[in-house]
Amino acid sequence: MGRRDVWPSILCALFLAGLLAAVQVVPAAAGSRAPGLLVEFFDVGQGDATLLSGPDFTILIDAGRHDRADVVPHLEAAGVRAIDLFILTHPHADHIGQCAAVIQRFPVREVWYSGDVHTSLTFERCLDAILASDAAYHEPRAGETFQIGSARLEVVHPAEVTGDYNNGSIGVRIAYGDVVFLFTGDAESEAEAEMLTRGHPLRAHVLQLGHHGSRTSSSSPFLEAVRPEVAVYSAGRDNPYGHPHEEALRRVAGAGAVVYGTDVNGTIRVYSDGKAYEVVPERGKPVRVMPGAARSSCAPGQVDVNSAGVEELVRIIHIGPALARRIIEERPFESVDELIRVSGIGQGRLADIKEQGLACAGEM
Ligand SMILES: [Zn+2]
Repeated sequence: MGRRDVWPSILCALFLAGLLAAVQVVPAAAGSRAPGLLVEFFDVGQGDATLLSGPDFTILIDAGRHDRADVVPHLEAAGVRAIDLFILTHPHADHIGQCAAVIQRFPVREVWYSGDVHTSLTFERCLDAILASDAAYHEPRAGETFQIGSARLEVVHPAEVTGDYNNGSIGVRIAYGDVVFLFTGDAESEAEAEMLTRGHPLRAHVLQLGHHGSRTSSSSPFLEAVRPEVAVYSAGRDNPYGHPHEEALRRVAGAGAVVYGTDVNGTIRVYSDGKAYEVVPERGKPVRVMPGAARSSCAPGQVDVNSAGVEELVRIIHIGPALARRIIEERPFESVDELIRVSGIGQGRLADIKEQGLACAGEM
């Protein structure tokens, strides 16, 4: 019997072994230390590796490329000592690339994998490493929910194994307090349509764009359901696929999200206390967002141009999603009058905004 023939039964055995540990609340390991949540979209070239370090949980989503060795150093620099949950969205070598190195370096409590079997050496090494470790194994399915420390996870994809690697990617919505992140691996528009059809709540403040910002992902109906304020893609500079694609970026910008990419911004960090969040890219301007809430220095019911999300800002007269995004990029403002700095807001519009009385400039 060749190796290839063994895999499905290995997966099956792993799955059964993992079931016991997988389904309930997973108590968190002594992972990270900072108060609040730090999400790090690592710059790992044309691949994905994202770390969520909470006060009582450590979650890693994907493990970079097979032809690099940068993920373990990133995790070490981030102070990781153990990983509660290691999600491998799908078997492509730009996602499970350094899976074995991660598992050999850190104690991993549980591994999630989409379930598709691949014939690559990278996949084989990853499986061997999982088998040789003490990690539990689970193939999550749409509709499952988990609590890992203070993080709440909802699996939004896939419903079953399809053999379509990209469209079979694990999709997961992770909430920390009021702030929600959505990750869909390399899911494309077909998978996005399935998520919509199944009626999952998809709304998220921060969306990782599917498939490195490819035009085949981030469809308009999907973006309308997610309504992201911030969108992050992971792609290598001058990659051969042309990621991210212009069409996808236009759709995302049209949906009102501020876009960051690892090719342009380097590693992108999002800090959150569970109420507001701040995006701090290695290169480029930080952005602070307080979803939905007006700040105390503004009158109740007013929209604070220094903290409101896109959803709130568009309540202001003349402000659509694109202008709202520019306001967020131009922050902070000492007063409403300073909105004149934002391209697209002239004296006439400013006068209307002041007349309307909805906008205020709270403390940053
Ligand atoms: Zn990929």
